[in-house]
Amino acid sequence: MNKPLASLSLDLDNAWSYLQIHGNEEWQSYPSYLDQLVPMFLDDMAARNLKVTVFVVGKDASLPQNRDLLRGIAESGHEIGNHSFNHLPWLDRFTAAGLRAELTEAHDAIGTATGSSTVGFRGPGFSFSAETLSVLASLGYTYDASTLPTFIGPLARAYYFRSGDLNEEERELRSKLFGSFADVRRPNTAYRWATHHLMELPVTTIPLIRTPFHLSYLLWLAGISEKLADLYLSVALAACRAT
Ligand SMILES: [Zn+2]
Repeated sequence: MNKPLASLSLDLDNAWSYLQIHGNEEWQSYPSYLDQLVPMFLDDMAARNLKVTVFVVGKDASLPQNRDLLRGIAESGHEIGNHSFNHLPWLDRFTAAGLRAELTEAHDAIGTATGSSTVGFRGPGFSFSAETLSVLASLGYTYDASTLPTFIGPLARAYYFRSGDLNEEERELRSKLFGSFADVRRPNTAYRWATHHLMELPVTTIPLIRTPFHLSYLLWLAGISEKLADLYLSVALAACRAT
């Protein structure tokens, strides 16, 4: 039997971007774990004979100490994608000029570091706007991968607000973090946008029930019970194969 086809991706979020999103000032020194993560990732993917799309943050690509690591990902045959320059998950609040600068700066830094000219984009925190599509189209991109078709975004945001240490202004900036209930109505499989020659590759959620099963959620579940996380992933994959 032929194996079903799947598109795999990794958002290469760094230690500093997690600190930043939680409002922890330590992010400003850009602490990094890429020197540990990238070799582990490359070994693991090679052992499994898998090629994935790695969405790289432009700021990391601009730092000289990361260049060899990031180039190694491209030279190992993985696709490199654009994950914005500053990993600010409120791209929908940017002006058109600001958004263009953010995406272009990332495109250039990632290209210089990896030797790859990126054609795919994922917004940090699944942030998404029609303006993003316009900028991507004008930069010659072929796909966006920012949408997460689930109803669970506002619940994840509430959980995140509870666990973070954010003031009122920081909460306001993050008021659309992880999306809205209406995102559940977006398609769960690849499609082409009507207004641009861009494909959308959504972050797949479980068909019908539309709950996410990407690694962040599996790790959260595994913190409760590894068996539960295994079972949840098995159900998700079975549902994908069946639909
Ligand atoms: Zn990210």
